[in-house]
Amino acid sequence: MKFLTLTTFLALGAFGFFWKSELPPSGDQLANKPKNIILVIGDGMGLSQISAAIYQTKLPMAFERFPVVGFQKTYSSNNLVTDSAAAGTAISSGVKTKNNTLGLDKNGTPSKSILEIASENGLATGMVVTASIQHATPGSFVAHQPARNLYDDISIDLLNSGIDFFIGGGKQHFERREKDDRNLTDELRQKGYKVFDYFDTELKNVKPDTLAPFAFFTADKEPLSALLGRDYLPTATNMAMEYLSHRSPKGFFLMVEGSQIDWACHANKTESLYAEMADFDKTLKQILRFASRDDQTLVIVTADHETGGMGLNEGTPRQLAPKFTTNGHTGAMVPVFAFGPQCELFRGIYENTEIFHKMYDAFGFSQN
Ligand code: MG
Ligand code: ZN
Repeated sequence: MKFLTLTTFLALGAFGFFWKSELPPSGDQLANKPKNIILVIGDGMGLSQISAAIYQTKLPMAFERFPVVGFQKTYSSNNLVTDSAAAGTAISSGVKTKNNTLGLDKNGTPSKSILEIASENGLATGMVVTASIQHATPGSFVAHQPARNLYDDISIDLLNSGIDFFIGGGKQHFERREKDDRNLTDELRQKGYKVFDYFDTELKNVKPDTLAPFAFFTADKEPLSALLGRDYLPTATNMAMEYLSHRSPKGFFLMVEGSQIDWACHANKTESLYAEMADFDKTLKQILRFASRDDQTLVIVTADHETGGMGLNEGTPRQLAPKFTTNGHTGAMVPVFAFGPQCELFRGIYENTEIFHKMYDAFGFSQN
């Protein structure tokens, strides 16, 4: 009995210790609110994808520089294995919804995204992605649609979102639409946007004017894979951070997506995954450089779900032989990395919807 009592005492002591570390941040920490939040999503980027990239890369990767790491549960309201639309909606607006749904809760009620709330609060907003800009992940930050493939409707939601800056593919859904004859590029210009695309010029030759909202289409449909030469994400992200930090004195919200990590894993192509991860890492390093200098920016890096059920099997003693167990997504939890003011909020294991609430709290927005 004495032994049990001692064990219980020790266990309670340990519990107390951990419990203490989970207490909410003190007033001092909360006073140190970020002015800006950059949310970086590696679509399909689970722990295996990150591990494989870290072992395969010679130089240290940006992931190892984050002081806080947590895990999020990715399941949707109707499936333990989520898709990018439901997971995007959970992260962007804090509600679990059904797979295939964008910006609506499971009953079909529109849910406001952190991007929309930031915009209402006078912050500048932007998105930079390597998919079409109407794709599920970016779509979940600006659109409210019952199905993720309604690209023409998602384009209209994007047009009306008031977003200040976006770079991605999908120009065809602005100009050669199936559902109507509207030219949304012209409509963007009527709203004051400066609009460019890859036909006119290379992204690196464009200098956005911070007095006007900015859009750049990187492809008519989907941009190329990194393996085939797509390399604009670091440049586009730098441009976005520079632009957004001058666009509003109140701060900014930026979502950056490595969209094609997911596609490489759907195709079970390890070489393509490595190329996407290298591009993602280069982008992360630019973001950390900005955030370390600026000191007012919270950077969060996570995935919407894992793709491919990737296993890191033994190859040679010095080389992994990655194997995929599916062409679809899996239910594995995914890591969350955080850097900058309020990063400690992202410790622990929590629901994907908490990412929204933590960003909302970090910004110091209040419900009214
Ligand atoms: Mg995506
Ligand atoms: Zn996917």
